[in-house]
Amino acid sequence: MSFPAKRAENSPAASRFDFLDLRAQFATIHDEVMQAVAQVFESQYFILGPEVKLLEDEVATKLGAKFAIGCASGTDALILSLLAAGIGKGDEVITTPFSFIATAGSIAYVGAKPVFVDINPVTFNINPALLEAAVTPKTRAIMPVHLFGLPADMDPILAIVREHNLVIVEDAAQAIGSRYAGRFAGTFGDYGCFSFFPSKNLGGAGDGGMITTNDARIAERLQMLRVHGSKKKYFHEMIGTNSRLHALQAAVLRVKLRHLGDWQQGRQNRADRYRRLFESAGLASFISTPPRPPAKFEHVYNQFTIRSSRRDDLKAFLHSAGVPSEIYYPLCIHLQEAFTYLGHKPGDFPESEKASREVLSLPVYPELPDAQQDRVVQTISDFRSSL
Ligand SMILES: *Cc1c(COP(=O)(O)O)cnc(C)c1O
Repeated sequence: MSFPAKRAENSPAASRFDFLDLRAQFATIHDEVMQAVAQVFESQYFILGPEVKLLEDEVATKLGAKFAIGCASGTDALILSLLAAGIGKGDEVITTPFSFIATAGSIAYVGAKPVFVDINPVTFNINPALLEAAVTPKTRAIMPVHLFGLPADMDPILAIVREHNLVIVEDAAQAIGSRYAGRFAGTFGDYGCFSFFPSKNLGGAGDGGMITTNDARIAERLQMLRVHGSKKKYFHEMIGTNSRLHALQAAVLRVKLRHLGDWQQGRQNRADRYRRLFESAGLASFISTPPRPPAKFEHVYNQFTIRSSRRDDLKAFLHSAGVPSEIYYPLCIHLQEAFTYLGHKPGDFPESEKASREVLSLPVYPELPDAQQDRVVQTISDFRSSL
């Protein structure tokens, strides 16, 4: 294989490399993608149409869901799901404060109130033991996030959902292909929401999203909501919006879906290699790496996220050595300026807040060259020696 990442590999040790090099992946599928895109141009069928329908069917089949509905983004997948469930003003939706803003943002956007529940510090996912206490008579739904590619602990969540007759909207934006107790993330509840943002495990050539469901009535509502609430052109049964997955995106994603299993394996191999390297460098107690999850959980490593009590110093040290890293997420959602109206203060969700001060994501993608991964670990080792 020859791709642009070589450039960095061949340069002197102090050179910078990329946190995520999507050109490396594109180089492996260039001809397939260009051919698929050319076919869409030849057809001049850009809005919904056969490519979108085929992708929807292929995703539904792969995940074991009855229906999949394409839409314009992962954020829209969450918003359309809440709208289809009739959730809005006066309703509460329980979710995690340690996620990308779109999670709670979508709840607020439809007029409902996000109610936060703290995370389990090991998994970074919502702590099911704290859920029951957050349920009120206004609670309509739970929105768990499968953060970084690790499924949330769904069994206790589903027990509470059943007990209180709640809707479940899964934010599986980072977790396509991951499994919990043998079932795919996004297929546990009424709505499974996916993002095809380029950096997700299945990333398009721009924005895109999808919702999976097993309920035919829900599928029909979602299909209507994304085209201004109509089944029959120019006749509108409800107020909807324009939120469609582009045919060009669908064509690219159909090519990439065929490789998703290999890429997932590649990410898992990178994660295992990190664990081995940290272990043999004696760094296992200096930084905390994501533990190998129990057999019930399959992690697909959209991110490989370590923790360090000296995170900011470590990040600066890595940066000056040309090693990329990212902080997902530096400020919890309940402390974001946009959510001041909820009246939260520091200390409300201590595990989430501690995580936001300690987490650091390292490069983890299937084509990541060994030499670059070695440099990440070596530089963390140098950081420890420098203390
Ligand atoms: C990416 C992401 C989204 C939103 O997806 P977009 O396609 O960027 O709108 C929502 N939730 C989480 C957890 C995400 O990582």
